[in-house]
Amino acid sequence: MTAGGPVLVTGAAGFIGHAVSERLLARGERVIGLDNFTDYYDVTLKEARVARLVDNFDFRLVRGDIASPELLAELVAGNGVRRIVHLAAQAGVRYSIENPFAYEHSNLKGHLAVLEAARQAGNVEHLVYASSSSVYGERPIGGTGFREDEPCTAPVSLYAATKRSCELMSQSYATLYGLRMSGLRFFTVYGPWGRPDMAYFGFAQKILLGQPIEVYGEGRMARDFTYIDDIVDGVVGVLDKPPADGEHRLLNIGDCDPVGLMEMIATLERALGRQAVKLMRPMQPGDVTATFADISAIRALTGYSPKVSLAQGIERFVDWYLSEIEQGGRGPMAAVA
Ligand code: NAD
Repeated sequence: MTAGGPVLVTGAAGFIGHAVSERLLARGERVIGLDNFTDYYDVTLKEARVARLVDNFDFRLVRGDIASPELLAELVAGNGVRRIVHLAAQAGVRYSIENPFAYEHSNLKGHLAVLEAARQAGNVEHLVYASSSSVYGERPIGGTGFREDEPCTAPVSLYAATKRSCELMSQSYATLYGLRMSGLRFFTVYGPWGRPDMAYFGFAQKILLGQPIEVYGEGRMARDFTYIDDIVDGVVGVLDKPPADGEHRLLNIGDCDPVGLMEMIATLERALGRQAVKLMRPMQPGDVTATFADISAIRALTGYSPKVSLAQGIERFVDWYLSEIEQGGRGPMAAVA
């Protein structure tokens, strides 16, 4: 599907946003990216991601804040945008303990501004936005996959609460104004060009520097790690299947194969060819024990089927990480170079 005006991708300098933009551009779509380059993590990495898009494609980047309703309305209505992939947000669970208002700003006000812009334009065909596995709250290891129709009433972090709020705000806009929307619950996304605040990324850096790593939850956590290319398959697959008028769907995009934290570390050690020095630490406030995606809904809709195992994905991440260091190291890689 390449017709129908440019796609607006919010958070286009971010990990997932830049990868989704790249896929859309590669298939001939026009993409307008919006990002305000928050300094939550090293901005050099965001600049480098955007430079890849600008160097290789006809990519238009707008630097601005999604929490500005005027900017959003102008971008959507003024450019004939019919499809929106809204990925900008203040991410991170632990950071929300220290910086709650960053989440109010980007995740609540920002999400509302995107909804309002879509409503005012009146002709947006599909608004796809990022939610998170964190909305499911605390679950034990070894249960069954989390299903979208389960009640999600007990978020354990403010981040999760804002993501659940985005889902509820979206439902109200679908009901009131007939908007067509898909909320995507991503499960721990990793890979090249990833986020330095995430465990696998920080562990790689510390292992290479010979520094100890802090293993939270005493290592007894499990995550449904999902490789970035699989996530992009899911996002673009859903984007291409707009729902009916007034329909708001929620879909997991995960790997459906939870892996223990210690196994993830062992995979990283093998790929790096070095042993980690591990310091066992208790669970951190806001963290959950386990995540596990049931992916039958997105599979039925789009044929989604994750292809990259954790071992393959970590190897690709490490290859990228080491090549960045070889090239002199930029941003988060500078310390190791
Ligand atoms: P990211 O931090 O790399 O990307 C988010 C981007 O949004 C950043 O470039 C940031 O500068 C931008 N941004 C933040 N606030 C903004 C604002 N007010 N105005 C404009 N731009 C703003 O994070 P990511 O991992 O790419 O995540 C993308 C989306 O997926 C987020 O909504 C996140 O909550 C969600 N998500 C990610 C994961 C994961 O494992 N990476 C898991 C679940 C959900």
